[in-house]
Amino acid sequence: MSKDPTFRVLVDAPKRSSVYEAYREEWDRRETDLDASDHPVHADIETVAVCDLRCGSTEEDPKGFCQIWTHEHIRMQGMEDFSYQRGYMDPVLYGRLIQQCADIGVSSIKFNYRGEPSLHPRIVSFIREAKALGFPDLMMNTNGNGGARKNKKLFRQIVEAGITDLMYSVDACDEVTYHRQRVGGQWDILLNSVRESVNARNEGKGAKDLKIRASVVRTKINADDLDSGRMEEFWRKEMGVDWMSISECYLPAGAQHSWQAAHWTDLTAAEFQCSDPFRRMVVTWDGRHTMPCCQGFTLEIDGGPVVSGADAPMTTVQKAWLSPNFDRLRKAHRDRTWDNKASGEPICQSCAVTKKPTPIQVPKDGRVHLRVLSS
Ligand code: SF4
Ligand code: SF4
Repeated sequence: MSKDPTFRVLVDAPKRSSVYEAYREEWDRRETDLDASDHPVHADIETVAVCDLRCGSTEEDPKGFCQIWTHEHIRMQGMEDFSYQRGYMDPVLYGRLIQQCADIGVSSIKFNYRGEPSLHPRIVSFIREAKALGFPDLMMNTNGNGGARKNKKLFRQIVEAGITDLMYSVDACDEVTYHRQRVGGQWDILLNSVRESVNARNEGKGAKDLKIRASVVRTKINADDLDSGRMEEFWRKEMGVDWMSISECYLPAGAQHSWQAAHWTDLTAAEFQCSDPFRRMVVTWDGRHTMPCCQGFTLEIDGGPVVSGADAPMTTVQKAWLSPNFDRLRKAHRDRTWDNKASGEPICQSCAVTKKPTPIQVPKDGRVHLRVLSS
């Protein structure tokens, strides 16, 4: 399990097959040795950069706390170059990327970075294609709505296609809290999606290593449900998910925000070295950018495009992995210099991963007023 201080699990991560456990050993080894080898262990292939929800948005703060909408906000300010375009990955590009990943020894593929992957009309066949290439782990974070708004059996089909880590972002164990935090989502659709996938798994239709997770961003409005055990009781006992994870709500771009239910303190390079650039990378939906970790929302450290016609010559997944830009970030963590204000890495200094949350208790005693404190 990652040493990312912002992430914790409520129950032990489940045991899997020996093939799966072997890949996780390599994942852990990259962290221990700070060794990038010549390929990533894991790749986030961003199948879509669109979403049907707007998590955390309120009348006072329409952009909410989601990264994808934070970028939408940046775009609305006329700063197009500092953000991403939205869109859907071309299936031909997808096929080329996963073949490259298989050829160089990548073990794990995730079908999203930001956005809702079930909205891609080819998502089920994408999973089947990846399964046929033999990756030990096929992962997806989902809001459980997305394409399931039209196709009630979608998540059963996703299980049958061979997903191994299906992670529902739930954030609540009752309808009222859900609709406040996961704005635009429908509780009944989420419950149906989880049930469909759990039932398909129980019928033996899923991959041997399949585990279903409920994920929670802990905020002021759901902290008591989590801390009291109600959240776990509902998702594990009533809905049948295998395990749960919690991330504390942290807002990008330095905003202070009343959603947060934790105090955050900066870690120093003496206290923290990030393992992500040694084991994982991201390819954006349009293939125009590759990034050495999942937190590089600024596109500041780019390994280059994997398509032609972009600003730089076309590269490959492996060449991006071995690029000088990726190596620069690794060096900053290996040498513990990322926090140097003059010569370090600003992207890491502002990243949630270099902050340590201390959860604060929030009683469930009525409506919490959510507003931006400063930004
Ligand atoms: S479901 Fe995910 S991508 Fe969509 S708004 Fe919520 S946090 Fe953002
Ligand atoms: S931005 Fe830096 S600290 Fe954050 S995940 Fe990437 S390498 Fe790690």
